[in-house]
Amino acid sequence: MEWDDDALEVLKEVPSFVRPLAKKAVEKLAREEGLERVTKEIALKAKAKYLGLEEEGGKKKKRIAIVRCDIVSEVCPGIGCLLAYENKKELFKRYEGEETSLVGFFTCGGCSGRRTFRLANTLKRYGVDVIHMSSCMLMEEPFNRCIFKEDIKKSIESLGIEVVEGTHHEVGKFALGKRFHEKD
Ligand code: SF4
Repeated sequence: MEWDDDALEVLKEVPSFVRPLAKKAVEKLAREEGLERVTKEIALKAKAKYLGLEEEGGKKKKRIAIVRCDIVSEVCPGIGCLLAYENKKELFKRYEGEETSLVGFFTCGGCSGRRTFRLANTLKRYGVDVIHMSSCMLMEEPFNRCIFKEDIKKSIESLGIEVVEGTHHEVGKFALGKRFHEKD
């Protein structure tokens, strides 16, 4: 099937290892819609459809990602972050009433967190709106707070992506290392 040039630009944004599959999926959708060539519009529609990033009626969901500490990931599968996201609790409470998609959950790659910029840059191509820095990067206990936190934050913001500090701990209690559900 023939592709318009601007539709090919959309395809180029897909990582190379999944591009052949994405190409087939776009062409399938184009055929289903009775098109004889792939336009930018159908390429964008397919991208949103197959990534599950649209609400009913084609409205964009807010796209959220979480970066977390590589060291802590050795002992934590991420359950606190993921449950807080799923239940819209603690630092995800701000999205109550909004449709959201979790489009990334990754570690910083180890000190000094340089992987964050590369992966945030990839997520930017998928329209990520906000990246949360996990609470384990911000707290003093049971692990030390990340000493590269500000650099990591700035590297994400330099891409024009909003950063929220924290995932599943009560705002203002990072220094005490208190989880939201712990009693005083
Ligand atoms: S850079 Fe920070 S978040 Fe990343 S592994 Fe080191 S301490 Fe953890």
